[in-house]
Amino acid sequence: MKKRIGVLALQGDFEAHEKALAAAGATPVLVRTPEELRHVDGLILPGGESTAMLNLLHRLEMFEPLREFGKSKAIFGTCAGVILLATRVTHPEQESLDLMDLTVERNGYGRQIDSSVGEIEPADAFLQRTGPGKLETVFIRAPVILRTGAGVTVLAEHGGHPVLVEQGRHLGATFHPELSSDVRVHQLFLEKI
Ligand code: GLN
Repeated sequence: MKKRIGVLALQGDFEAHEKALAAAGATPVLVRTPEELRHVDGLILPGGESTAMLNLLHRLEMFEPLREFGKSKAIFGTCAGVILLATRVTHPEQESLDLMDLTVERNGYGRQIDSSVGEIEPADAFLQRTGPGKLETVFIRAPVILRTGAGVTVLAEHGGHPVLVEQGRHLGATFHPELSSDVRVHQLFLEKI
């Protein structure tokens, strides 16, 4: 049976994740309530504006249910999503779910590189599980991962900073794999569920 994977659909580019999940062979389910969270096997936190998402999560009383979900089920956060997953957020400081042992600086690449598209060679830890080939990286006002805890594996780096990281069941990317046609990152997430 196809895995039912939720995409948090309060704000941001959740539709792109819906398409990427379908292309990777899963059944995407849009999640907007704590009740809907109960019916999915894993969840994607999309890119967007992390402060807006945080406010909506509190308003809808989803912040704590989401943290609980992450204690037993897999979450994949991209860009604003990885900001939400981190232990500590800077520039400015803001609350986060504390599900991945990361310190993340918002908009850390500075204004001069608001957005960029490039290609990177992922680490062997990624390539061995997904097959060979560079990864396209779309960065949009991306955060910089400043620190990774001992339990975090770096699956890809760019400019000296981790851009794709894994900790146990969780996955985080500072770029937007959902905006590329390569679905290997989504497939890797599905394998973890
Ligand atoms: N700059 C956004 C934030 O701080 C993240 C950008 C994105 O998700 N593309 O929340």
